[in-house]
Amino acid sequence: MAEFEVDLFVIGGGSGGVRAARIAAGHGARVVVAEEYRMGGTCVIRGCVPKKLFVIGSHFRQEMEDAAGFGWTVPSVTFDWPTLVANKDKEIARLEAAYTTNVEKSGAEVVKSRAVLEDAHTVRLANGRTMRARYILIAAGGSPNHGAAIPGIEHVISSNEAFHLPELPKHILIQGGGYIALEFACIFAGYGSDVTVVYRGENILRGFDDDVRSHVRSELEKEGITILTGCTVTAVERHGKEYTSRLSNGSSVASEQVMFAIGRHPNVANLGLEKAGVAINPKNGGVAVDGWSKSSAANIYAIGDVTHRVNLTPVAIREGHAFADTVFGKRPVQVDHATIPTAVFSQPEVGTVGLTETEARAQFSHVDVYMATFRPIKATMSGRDTRVLMKLLVDGASDRVLGCHIVGDYAAEIIQAVAIAVKMKATKADFDATVALHPTAAEELVTMHTPTARHIRQAAE
Ligand SMILES: Cc1cc2nc3c(=O)[nH]c(=O)nc-3n(C[C@H](O)[C@H](O)[C@H](O)COP(=O)(O)OP(=O)(O)OC[C@H]3O[C@@H](n4cnc5c(N)ncnc54)[C@H](O)[C@@H]3O)c2cc1C
Repeated sequence: MAEFEVDLFVIGGGSGGVRAARIAAGHGARVVVAEEYRMGGTCVIRGCVPKKLFVIGSHFRQEMEDAAGFGWTVPSVTFDWPTLVANKDKEIARLEAAYTTNVEKSGAEVVKSRAVLEDAHTVRLANGRTMRARYILIAAGGSPNHGAAIPGIEHVISSNEAFHLPELPKHILIQGGGYIALEFACIFAGYGSDVTVVYRGENILRGFDDDVRSHVRSELEKEGITILTGCTVTAVERHGKEYTSRLSNGSSVASEQVMFAIGRHPNVANLGLEKAGVAINPKNGGVAVDGWSKSSAANIYAIGDVTHRVNLTPVAIREGHAFADTVFGKRPVQVDHATIPTAVFSQPEVGTVGLTETEARAQFSHVDVYMATFRPIKATMSGRDTRVLMKLLVDGASDRVLGCHIVGDYAAEIIQAVAIAVKMKATKADFDATVALHPTAAEELVTMHTPTARHIRQAAE
């Protein structure tokens, strides 16, 4: 028997693992992928895709309300949560099957089992079978983290369960201020739930530009979402079908569901990392890797959420692809983690790329801010009380656009295109030289001629 049964054993059939397996197999490697739950991983099964389907569905309420100003009479409508969940499940099952088929078509083998490391070259499957691999890729992803075990934590759901609730809660409390918490807040509010968001910090969306944070908060509050900041849930009590959440500020909130979206942790527990000599990054709790995604064991690599670097699907995919090209394709490539566009699929959406104003001012001595808020054309007839935010941050010395932040309809779609320009180091003059496309909201990005603020740091005497 050959020393190794396979060239590559991939632990985890999510976005990153699947891409790595397919590309490595394409380079001629013998590949096995082990998946303990469902092929497709978080993004496909309980992340981006079902979330976006829920988001799309939740927009129809506003659309129907807005239609009146344009002459439509919408008869009273009803919404059926079980239909939404069933149709979403059907689409997710289709995608899951496609993921398996595509991996197999590439020549890799899929094993539906948990896999753990026995040593640096050996993995053990749930049935006790072991396999020897020349290289091992850890692409085990991450899981929701509920934080401290407060009394009643067993009543709290995460985003995983939110996709499968048997009925739409009349009132839901969501603890968390990040993108997952806010997206679910808008999803539930869109379908008609009363939503209370509880967040321990002073404002939601930590890490985003401060103007974006306050703009989103005011837009969500205008849509009736209650946002309580500076407090946490300290206990959850059950009373039949209802829950009472006790808050650290002494108040309490009654709801039919309590959901926490306060963070995710990398799936590193009980993986056998120590046996294989794979170290944990003490700074973030993920698998420690270098710029090539190589772990402390020479033949073991890790990519995606399990490394807790940038927890986004396209990043996991890039890292998986780069790993396979580097190790099996004789094409060494490192992933550039700078200037990654991101979105929050709240209502309205956020699209952002590059530096926030705080980051820009810390890194550059002259920062020009161009910011506009305005009523979108649709709202002039729908009567909806909403405003769009557009913001550009420019290095006053080189004229380079350092960051772009948008809150408004289609912000994610717009920012994907703007990200190309920012990644290419476009200048404000390049933006200004681009003719506006009228009438759009995005034309504001090429028509903001005068800075709304200028920050010049004097050189130390
Ligand atoms: C609610 C939600 C919404 C999100 N929305 C977005 C979004 O809009 N855009 C975006 O870019 N990202 C989004 N993300 C993040 C995105 O889903 C992840 O960044 C991405 O899925 C990471 O891919 P991965 O391959 O690293 O891990 P995963 O996709 O998590 O895959 C890991 C797989 O490994 C399996 N596994 C774990 N341990 C083992 C083991 N020992 N043996 C066998 N199998 C194992 C797991 O079952 C899982 O299927 C969202 C996440 C969540 C939770």
